[in-house]
Amino acid sequence: MTNPFHTHCPAACAEIEQGTDGRWIIRPDAPAHAGGNQWFSLCVGLDATSQALECAIHWLPINAEVAGEYPDNHNFATVLDRCCFLDHGDGRWQRLEKVELIPEGACLRLPSGGPGRRLAVGMPVAPEDLHTVLDLAQASPHAQVRRLGHARRGSPVWALTVSEGDRAQGSIVVQSLQHAQEWGGLRAHAALIGHLLSPAGAALRRRWRWLCYPATNADGLYQGWRGDPMVVDGLNPNRDWGTFTLNEVRLVAEDMLGCLRAGPALAHVVDLHMGWNHRQHPGSAVGVAAPDGDLGPIRPWHQGFAEDLIRRSAFSDGQWEIHRRGRPTFPAWLHGEIGFHGQTLELSRHHWPSADGGWEPPSQAREEAFGIALAESLDAYLSDQAHPALTPNR
Ligand SMILES: [Zn+2]
Repeated sequence: MTNPFHTHCPAACAEIEQGTDGRWIIRPDAPAHAGGNQWFSLCVGLDATSQALECAIHWLPINAEVAGEYPDNHNFATVLDRCCFLDHGDGRWQRLEKVELIPEGACLRLPSGGPGRRLAVGMPVAPEDLHTVLDLAQASPHAQVRRLGHARRGSPVWALTVSEGDRAQGSIVVQSLQHAQEWGGLRAHAALIGHLLSPAGAALRRRWRWLCYPATNADGLYQGWRGDPMVVDGLNPNRDWGTFTLNEVRLVAEDMLGCLRAGPALAHVVDLHMGWNHRQHPGSAVGVAAPDGDLGPIRPWHQGFAEDLIRRSAFSDGQWEIHRRGRPTFPAWLHGEIGFHGQTLELSRHHWPSADGGWEPPSQAREEAFGIALAESLDAYLSDQAHPALTPNR
């Protein structure tokens, strides 16, 4: 059988060949020098096949005793069974069922199917998923798409503004994909933008000016990540604010401040991430950073937003939390610049609760539903109560 996998894709990061037993051996390309960190991503095209394909993802040997335990962030192989996705050719990612963990990696079966399919491990989003939204925005009279410049390895960094009319009460900033492997944020963000541009979003785009930075870590999206998923060339984007060693972080920061100076005043900021603290823990949270672990009189406002969002969305077992500040993160930088606490949203990576009756929506639908709920929740909460320290132009 000729090789049905397209491993020439820029973000493929894998070699795939057929073993003597007919099984397709997938060998991810990742450096061995990443401090024992075994995370990787791959995204490859797949030709039409009339029969199912048995596959084995080979990875660095792991301790068989901890397979399935997910004890820390370093051993990706232990969660491979929840990180394999197939686009059946309709442009939508679905989590593959019955992925079996083995000491060498994971075994899975790809069903037969038509052309245009894609297999992703680790990061089921691709540049075309972002460009679908950029194209939608470019065709809309209510959006402006800006290419801010280029990231460290040359990938384009994008910003969108969505608004209609001149009566916006304030600006809402949404950022995602500072960490390339935290793909759920981009998925939710794309759905949020799609909702704002749809007829259902008319009131939301009239009440607020939405400043959207969907993929700050542009190189991670366009070129894939290898080894340590948190960093670009050894640098963590969410520790680079104010330092600006990474051009992509500087570009987003300068555009954001410029837009906010032009007004209307800031109403809220959310930064989308994807928690993964423990295999058995959803890792989802709505947090805010405070220098001393306390927010003082503005705490009820931030906690109120968190609780409102958790109530309105299928946000897994979302937790409200205050985490300590101090490192040059995005929220710390923003607070230093304009005195506003942005809120960090950690989506769940592996573990969403079953809906009533035990039915769970397919993978992509979960993050999309969250993105729409986030837009509606921001609008409802901010319409009801402005941040105590702000006087939006109402
Ligand atoms: Zn993150």
